[in-house]
Amino acid sequence: MAKIAIVGAGQAGLHLGIGLLMSGHRVTMLSNRTGEQIAAGPVTSSQSMYGMALGLERELGIDYWQESSPQYAGAQMRVADSDGNIMLYWQGAMDEPGQSIDQRVKMPVWMDRFVELGGDLRIVDAGIAELEGVAASHDLVVIASGKGEIGSLFQRNPDRSPLTSPQRVLALTYVNRFRPRPGIPAICININPGNGEFVSFPGLTLSGPCEIFTIESIPGGPMDIWADVKTPDEHLAASEHLLRTFFPHEAERIDGHLELTDDKAVLRGRITPTTKYPVATLPSGAKIFGLADVVCLNDPLTGQGSNNASKAAKIYLDAINAHGDAAFDEAWMNAVFEQYWDYARFPVAYTNQTLGQPPEHMLRILKAAETDKELAHIMANSFNDPKSIAPWYYDAASAEQFLSERTVPLQ
Ligand SMILES: Cc1cc2nc3c(=O)[nH]c(=O)nc-3n(C[C@H](O)[C@H](O)[C@H](O)COP(=O)(O)OP(=O)(O)OC[C@H]3O[C@@H](n4cnc5c(N)ncnc54)[C@H](O)[C@@H]3O)c2cc1C
Repeated sequence: MAKIAIVGAGQAGLHLGIGLLMSGHRVTMLSNRTGEQIAAGPVTSSQSMYGMALGLERELGIDYWQESSPQYAGAQMRVADSDGNIMLYWQGAMDEPGQSIDQRVKMPVWMDRFVELGGDLRIVDAGIAELEGVAASHDLVVIASGKGEIGSLFQRNPDRSPLTSPQRVLALTYVNRFRPRPGIPAICININPGNGEFVSFPGLTLSGPCEIFTIESIPGGPMDIWADVKTPDEHLAASEHLLRTFFPHEAERIDGHLELTDDKAVLRGRITPTTKYPVATLPSGAKIFGLADVVCLNDPLTGQGSNNASKAAKIYLDAINAHGDAAFDEAWMNAVFEQYWDYARFPVAYTNQTLGQPPEHMLRILKAAETDKELAHIMANSFNDPKSIAPWYYDAASAEQFLSERTVPLQ
C-alpha cells in the first residue's frame, strides 16, 4: 500500500483522503485551517451538488446530511429583462435530487472522519519547504489546495483555457426570509441578458436550512455595484437591491426583507476560469500532482466545481488503487489527469459557453426546451452530467441534427 500526502482539506482532498484510507493506504493531509477554524470562518461556496457526485460520497459513507439537508429535484431557467419581460423559460425534473451542504458544516465533519480512519492530519500552511518534506517521505504528493497560493506552482494550459480574465464579479449570500419557489424545490437560474445572473437553491448551513444566492455581475456593467461594498450588511443590501432591480420575478419571493443566516454568510470575488498542466516540479526535482480546482478552475455560474472535485477524486482514487507497486511518475500523473479531462472538458465547455455570448445553437436548444418537456428534463439533468448532452449542446452541426430529430408537441 502507498504512502500518500494530500495538501488541502476541501471537497477534493478530503474525498480522496478518506477513500484512500478506506482502501488501506497511509495518508497525510496538510490543511492550513483546523475544522474549528473552517466552521468559524466565512462561507466559501454555494456548493450545489447533484446525483453522480453525491453518489460518490454515498459510496464512501460520508453523505451524512442526506436526511437533514433540503433537497431539490428540479431546475428552472428564466431569461428576462429588468421589467420582467420573459424571453425564455423552462423547468424540468432531475432524476436524482441535488443538495448543498455549507462547506463550514461539511469539511470539519469529514476532517474528523479522516482522523478516525487513521489519517495523519497536520495543520500547516504548506509552502515549498513543507512540500519538499512530504515529497521526500511519501510515494505521491497530491495538491488539492483549491484557489490557494501554491496553485501558482502549476502552469496554465492555454489550449484548455480559452478565457484570460474573470467574466463575472461573484457575490455569494446565504439568506433567510426568501420564500420557496412555487412547485417543486429547484435550482433557479435567472439570466438578465447583458447584466448578469442570479442563481438560488435551498441549502443547509450552520443554523439549519437556508437559501443560497450566487449573483454574477458582468464586470463594469450596471449590476457591478460591489466595489464599495465592505460590510456583511452592505453586501446583503446590495444583493436585495440587485434582486429587486434586475430579477423582479425572483424578488417576489422576498418575505419583507432578506436576512443573513450569520455575519460570515457572504463572499465576493472573481475567478479566471483556467485549466493547468497537472504536474508541477519542486526545486528538488520531485513531481507533485494537482487535483480539482488547483488545476481545473471554473466560474461557479453552472455549479460544477464541487461536483468536478468529487468526480476527480474518484478517478484519482481508482487510479491509485489500480497502480500496484509501480512508481507514481509524471507519465502516470498525466495519464490519470487525461482520464479526468476526458470528462472535465464538458463541464468546462458547459460553463464557458454560458459565460460568454451564447452561440446560436445553444439558444435554439434552450428555446426548444420551453415546449419540449423531455428536452427540459434532459437539460435539468445536464447539471449533474454536462457530458450527457454532448455533442449536440456544444456543436452547431450536431445541434441542428439533434433538434431536427425531435418531435416538439404543438401548443
Ligand atoms: C461563489 C462560489 C459558488 C460556488 N458554487 C458552486 C456550486 O453551486 N456547485 C459546485 O459544484 N461548485 C461551486 N463552487 C465551486 C466549488 O466550491 C469548488 O470547485 C470546490 O470547493 C473545489 O474543491 P477543492 O477541494 O478543489 O478546493 P477547496 O474546496 O478550495 O479546498 C482547498 C482547501 O485547501 C486549503 N489550502 C489552500 N492552500 C493551502 C496550503 N498552502 N496548505 C494547506 N492547505 C491549503 C484551503 O484552505 C481549503 O480548505 C462555487 C465556488 C464559488 C467561489
